[in-house]
Amino acid sequence: MKKCIIIGGGAAGMFAAVIAASDGMDVSIWEKNEKLGKKLFITGKGRCNLTNNCETEILFRNVMTNSKFLYSAFYQFNSQDTMAFFESEGLTLKTERGNRVFPASDKSSDVIRVLEHKLKQLGVDIELNRGVDSLVIEDGICKGVKDTKGNTEYADCVLVATGGRSYSSTGSTGDGYRFAEACGHVIIPPRPSLIPMETEEDWCRELMGLSLKNVSVVLKQGKKKLYEDFGEMLFTHFGVSGPLILSGSAYCGKLKDFKNLILTIDLKPALSAEQIDHRLLRIFEDNMNKQFRNSLSGLLPNKLIPVIIQLSGIDPYKQVNLVSKEERIKLGWLLKHLDIHIRGLRNIEEAIITGGGIRVKDVNPSTLESKCVKNLYFAGEVLDVDALTGGFNLQIAWSTAWLAAKNMLEVVEDEF
Ligand SMILES: Cc1cc2nc3c(=O)[nH]c(=O)nc-3n(C[C@H](O)[C@H](O)[C@H](O)COP(=O)(O)OP(=O)(O)OC[C@H]3O[C@@H](n4cnc5c(N)ncnc54)[C@H](O)[C@@H]3O)c2cc1C
Repeated sequence: MKKCIIIGGGAAGMFAAVIAASDGMDVSIWEKNEKLGKKLFITGKGRCNLTNNCETEILFRNVMTNSKFLYSAFYQFNSQDTMAFFESEGLTLKTERGNRVFPASDKSSDVIRVLEHKLKQLGVDIELNRGVDSLVIEDGICKGVKDTKGNTEYADCVLVATGGRSYSSTGSTGDGYRFAEACGHVIIPPRPSLIPMETEEDWCRELMGLSLKNVSVVLKQGKKKLYEDFGEMLFTHFGVSGPLILSGSAYCGKLKDFKNLILTIDLKPALSAEQIDHRLLRIFEDNMNKQFRNSLSGLLPNKLIPVIIQLSGIDPYKQVNLVSKEERIKLGWLLKHLDIHIRGLRNIEEAIITGGGIRVKDVNPSTLESKCVKNLYFAGEVLDVDALTGGFNLQIAWSTAWLAAKNMLEVVEDEF
């Protein structure tokens, strides 16, 4: 029986081990943590959005970087295959808004349990607390791995599934980049993606904890529109976060700098400028003898009112019937164009996904074998691929793991 060592017991590593072992390989997973799937455990706020219940074409559309590289991976193992695998292993799934797929139990631990159970059933050797220090390469062929204690083990092939560089407490500290670089791979500098944004405006921090639902946002640098969407966002102690912002950040990855980067929030996307003016007129008529600062409670969340009043430039103590038409129109404009200057993204440590990684040009997209070193494979986030939220990143992990595992078998069979 031919042997394969998988470095990393995350989503990609565990799944590749299941596939390779199911097909008859002798598989070892080396995981530096004391348990498997630490990052998987925190996915989807502990619920694990494990894939997206969509057509394969939609998978490609949601990949931000190097989607073409994933052609074989997605066409040979798509989200329907992911769902079929987990369901066949007894995990009941449910599909939520945006076709996001979760375990019916809402517990990421159930996804991990299914994988762990399968690994044990297939007799996969799981080496916990065993960090890999380096690859053993002889004559351009990967022959095995050396652990951090200096022990070397040989294998017929090695799969690097060490993840990216964010949430390093889960184990993803970028080791795979080092392994790949040492044997000739180019590393595209890791950068944060799906990450909150820091803002210039102090008033954003005053709104900490406020979540805005059903708003639309446009992200522009100068005149160039980078991103536009509708949904939910959140103010934090450093700026802005939430689904809209995380998705928007994926469009900032390749910017040279953050100069003139402006997020414009439309607080009332369902209303046209005219409709908002009518609405304000009605509100002002109903509150004509109140002070302006006390007139907006039906229109905006309470926390936001002082900020909007301040930005409108209208005297908060002015009686509503003294607010001019010009002031009212300016207020209406503000409600649809609340500008926030983006200073930058948060640190990569806080990123849901690491953009950049092992350059895909140096990896065969049909097999996921290295083009620099024979019998060395890559899967998951360690590669320079990243996607939007919605289960697409884990689908990348499952699909690339499947493809690498199947091809490791091919190589091994060729040798008989
Ligand atoms: C907070 C958060 C929420 C997320 N939610 C979702 C979601 O709901 N849906 C979704 O699709 N994606 C989500 N993601 C992204 C998703 O978790 C990753 O894309 C996915 O886990 C990548 O899988 P991977 O196997 O490539 O890497 P990882 O899951 O990071 O696994 C890599 C493993 O390799 C191990 N390792 C690293 N170096 C070594 C070494 N030298 N020796 C031995 N072992 C090593 C690590 O300890 C780790 O266990 C989320 C990410 C975060 C941070």
